[in-house]
Amino acid sequence: MLPLTAPLVTRHGQVTGRDIVVVRIDADEGVGWGECSALPEPTYTDEFASEAFAVLSQELAPRLVRRKLSVSDLHAKVSAFPGNPMAKASLEMALLDVVLTSKSMSLGDWLGVSNISAPAGATIGIVSEAEALEQVAAFRAEGYRRIKLKISSSAGLDVVRRVSEEFPELELQIDPNGGCRPDDIARLVNISEHLSAIEQPFDPKQIEASRQLVAQVDIPIIADEPIDSLEAAQELVQNKACSAIAVKPPRLGGLVRTIELRDACLKWGVPLSAGGMLECGLGRHSLAAVAAMDGFDVAGDLSPASRWIRVDPWPDIEFDTTGELGTIAVPTGNGVAPKPDLEVLGSVTTSTTMVT
Ligand SMILES: [Mg+2]
Repeated sequence: MLPLTAPLVTRHGQVTGRDIVVVRIDADEGVGWGECSALPEPTYTDEFASEAFAVLSQELAPRLVRRKLSVSDLHAKVSAFPGNPMAKASLEMALLDVVLTSKSMSLGDWLGVSNISAPAGATIGIVSEAEALEQVAAFRAEGYRRIKLKISSSAGLDVVRRVSEEFPELELQIDPNGGCRPDDIARLVNISEHLSAIEQPFDPKQIEASRQLVAQVDIPIIADEPIDSLEAAQELVQNKACSAIAVKPPRLGGLVRTIELRDACLKWGVPLSAGGMLECGLGRHSLAAVAAMDGFDVAGDLSPASRWIRVDPWPDIEFDTTGELGTIAVPTGNGVAPKPDLEVLGSVTTSTTMVT
């Protein structure tokens, strides 16, 4: 259980501590680590951490151990089982870490994004107006130029307006997590000139409201909650119910699936943003490389893990101090991420299962 710097409050509930399942693969070529992004409770998605731990240790890992597997072999094996994309993504990450480290390659090399940076974005949970203004000022001082404000309904738009008046130079996004109603369309259109994007304004079932908003504003309307597959994204794009796609790679089952969706979005001419799942430093290393890929043209949730995680066994990603302001350098070390501090990892570990 990783302690957070502060609870994250969204319309889906409150996260006060981060239970993270991590996978360690011991192979002949070396050791690899993967992070499973499932949250402690089934709030944002139905997959959750303790369930993912059980699925990994009892079902998936026993079928994979003592075999020589490539990343595509792994996908072929795990896709025989339905669901649990975040558990599967953690296996992919750990295997990629082994493979890339043994070839002295970074994840950035593998994704074709070496030596570049990706725009950082800070997310602020649902807070009071005074707190929002204070947090935005602090993030601005840290170097962020893109801020996403969580709101629970259109009532939160007053806070958004105040922030945009106070900080007109920042790129502001809002994420109501589906909390707005169709009769909020006019208010959303009205405030859109102060925003750089709106993420998941309506419940995913409110396709018609989403279509109307997309048609009436010039900024990207990002689909997030429904994006668990290429097919889900395709349906929304074809219906013109979104104009950008938020990709959380673990929700798709990992990076191979993320690349497939990215390629499709390039074909459709729909930009992407890289979404975060309160990852620790391990997952954030992967997210930094994803956010730098072609097509990821809308700022996402890329921030150092220390934005949320107070005690982290993994080294963190860092701001690019030489390039464009408010960007994060794609990590250049071999593998997905540097290795963890095993002493810190041991101090926050509540349960371990070895599968041999
Ligand atoms: Mg979101």
